[in-house]
Amino acid sequence: MDVAILIVAMKSPEELTDLFRATGRKVTPQRRRIFELLQGDGTHPSAEEIYRRLSAEMSTVSLKTVYQTLGELASMGVILSVDVGTRSMRFDPNVEAEHQHLLCARCEAVQDVTLPVELAPGEVIDGYLVMRTDIVVRGLCPSCRADLGEAAAKWVAPGVAGVAEQSPRTEKVL
Ligand SMILES: [Zn+2]
Ligand SMILES: [Zn+2]
Repeated sequence: MDVAILIVAMKSPEELTDLFRATGRKVTPQRRRIFELLQGDGTHPSAEEIYRRLSAEMSTVSLKTVYQTLGELASMGVILSVDVGTRSMRFDPNVEAEHQHLLCARCEAVQDVTLPVELAPGEVIDGYLVMRTDIVVRGLCPSCRADLGEAAAKWVAPGVAGVAEQSPRTEKVL
């Protein structure tokens, strides 16, 4: 299927700083750097991943600050918190364009994808009023496929339900 990768759109660090200040929040250098790190990041990082990147350049940052800042951004609707069934919530700066997600069951990479979803908010299906549609396509990303070679086929054997749980696990290196 031919699907287009979406362009990540998000408020600039300056706009976010103004927005935070307008709502009485303090913008510390750590927070400002979190705003910057999220710009154009289509990898749907977890809070832990943002913390890992940030603590490499700033020793004064805590995981708590990262959680708090991401939580506030999400509650302001500036980023999305996305639950794709991985251990950690993932954060998505792409709030503009309706999209779905591809998830690698092996390395937990997450990528935006546009899929033809016919259900619009407000429609009714089987008596359910539709608010939003989250579709997660689980599979193997190109780099895991390359790693696994022929063994990739085992991950998609017929009858394997819940790929992430039942497929051969390799030791995860973080
Ligand atoms: Zn992968
Ligand atoms: Zn996304």
